[in-house]
Amino acid sequence: MNEAPRTLDQFAIAGRTAIVTGAASGIGLAYAECMAEAGARVTLTDIDADGAAREAQRLVDAGYTARWAACDVTDLHAVARAFDDHVAAYGGCDIAFANAGLDVGDGFWSPDGTRNPSGQIDVYPKDKWDRSIAINLTGIFHTVREAARVMKANTQRRGGCIVITSSNAAEINEAIVGVPYMAAKAGVKHFMRHAAYELAAHGIRVNAIAPGPFVTNIGDGWVKKDPAAKAAWDRLVPVGRMAETYQIKPLALLLASDAGSYMTGSHVMIDGGMQLGPVRPL
Ligand code: NAD
Repeated sequence: MNEAPRTLDQFAIAGRTAIVTGAASGIGLAYAECMAEAGARVTLTDIDADGAAREAQRLVDAGYTARWAACDVTDLHAVARAFDDHVAAYGGCDIAFANAGLDVGDGFWSPDGTRNPSGQIDVYPKDKWDRSIAINLTGIFHTVREAARVMKANTQRRGGCIVITSSNAAEINEAIVGVPYMAAKAGVKHFMRHAAYELAAHGIRVNAIAPGPFVTNIGDGWVKKDPAAKAAWDRLVPVGRMAETYQIKPLALLLASDAGSYMTGSHVMIDGGMQLGPVRPL
C-alpha cells in the first residue's frame, strides 16, 4: 500500500537544482536564498554580474552550494548558455525561477501624487515601452523557453517546476507604475497559463507569484531611500505595510517543491490585500 507523504516531507528539495534570473537583488535573491536554505544547489544569474558573484559567494561562505552566471534575459543566447552551464555543473535542472524584471518608470501618477506629464498614453516614451516589454515579457519567454528545453531533456528526473515572477499589476490598474509594466505582467500571466497547459504532459509545472509592494531595489530602490515614499506606499496596502523579501520564501518553496504537486497555471497573489481595493494616487 502506498503511504501518503507527510506534510513537511513534501517541501523537501535537498539535492535538487535551481536557477534564478535577476538573483543579485530583491525577490530573486530571496528565491535563491530560499532554495539554498532548503538544500538545493543554486545558480544565481543576473545582468549585474558583480552582484550575482557577490551573492553566490555569500551563500557559499554560509555553507550552501551556489554558483553564478552573468545573464541578460533579453538575450536568448545568454539565457540558453546559462541553462546549459547550470545543467553541466549540477547534472540537471529541477527548478527555474523566471524572475528578472524592472519598472522603467513614468507611471500615470508621480510618487508625489501629481499627474506625471510623461506618463500619459499620448506621449508615453516609446523607448521605455520597448525596454519594459523586452525585459518583463520577452525575458520571461526566453527563460521559460530554455527551462522547458532542459527540463524536457531530463532523463533521470521527470519534469520540473517553473516559477515566474508576475505582479499584482497584472490584475489591477496600478497606475503608479509605468503602463508597459502592467501590460507586460498581464501578458506574463496569460503566457504562464498556456505554458502550464502545454508542459503539464511533460511533468513540468508552471506557476506565477504575483507580488504587491515589496521593499527591494526596484525603481532604483527609491522606497529604501525615501522614508516618506515608503510610508505613502505602506498606506496603500490594506495590511498597512510593504512586504520584506523574506515573506515570499514560503510561497516560493511551495511552488518549487512537491508540496505544490497539484498546482499548475496558478497566478498566486501575495500583496497584502492590495487587490481588494483601488490603488489611489499617493
Ligand atoms: P530588484 O531591482 O531588487 O531586483 C531585480 C534584479 O533583476 C536586479 O538584480 C537586476 O540587476 C536584475 N535585472 C534587471 N534587468 C535584467 C535583465 N535584463 N536581465 C537579467 N537581470 C536583470 O527588483 P525586485 O523587486 O526584486 O524585482 C524582481 C521581480 O519582482 C521583477 O520581475 C519585478 O517586476 C517583480 N515585482 C516586484 C515588486 C516589488 O514591489 N518589488 C512587485 C511586483 C513584482
